Amino acid sequence: MLQHYVIPVTSFAQNCSILWCNQTQEAAIVDPGGDIEKLVAFINEQQLNITKILLTHGHLDHVGATCDTAAAYGVPIIGPHQADAFWIDNLAQQAQMFGFATPNNFTPTQWLKDGDEVTVGNETLQVVHCPGHTPGHVVFYHQASHKAWVGDVIFSGSIGRTDFPQGNHQQLVDSICEKLWPLGNDVEFICGHGPNSTFGKERASNPLVGDRVTGRG
Ligand SMILES: [Zn+2]
Ligand SMILES: [Zn+2]
Repeated sequence: MLQHYVIPVTSFAQNCSILWCNQTQEAAIVDPGGDIEKLVAFINEQQLNITKILLTHGHLDHVGATCDTAAAYGVPIIGPHQADAFWIDNLAQQAQMFGFATPNNFTPTQWLKDGDEVTVGNETLQVVHCPGHTPGHVVFYHQASHKAWVGDVIFSGSIGRTDFPQGNHQQLVDSICEKLWPLGNDVEFICGHGPNSTFGKERASNPLVGDRVTGRG
């Protein structure tokens, strides 16, 4: 079974998730944006064996501690899609823009594309490319438990900002409606900021991508 625990990190309260397979104790860190000591404390307490870092997109609040975490555990950095390379290559500029300390640089070990799969112990997650907030944003979907890690694509009652370079509102709406809704109304999502929700709840009530707004009901 895939277990997870959310640890809000950075001043943006970004929801970093630790995912682990309870058969093997093998684990992945999704979006280590900062506060590495909080992550390490939980990982030690649960006696988890970190095997990889998974990144949804290249924004600093999601990737700020990636270099240090990868070095601490000696693990590969998987994702996001290569279209976010320009964000990851400019961490110093992002730090200025977001008012963060400048983090150590990294290059992902492996870029992801739509339809790829990533494993955490005996568990498999599907990669869904969802551009719009950033061009290389990916979502990790665990079909067995109907859970999705969606980063900043969609939130409870909102969707990601699209006023950044290469952001695109219509593309984001299309990503949500065409790539996420088909996964099922009962899918619970863990987003980058704020509380969890389900795709069904958002289709019913989200003011930006609800079925009433998009006419896709
Ligand atoms: Zn973001
Ligand atoms: Zn974010």
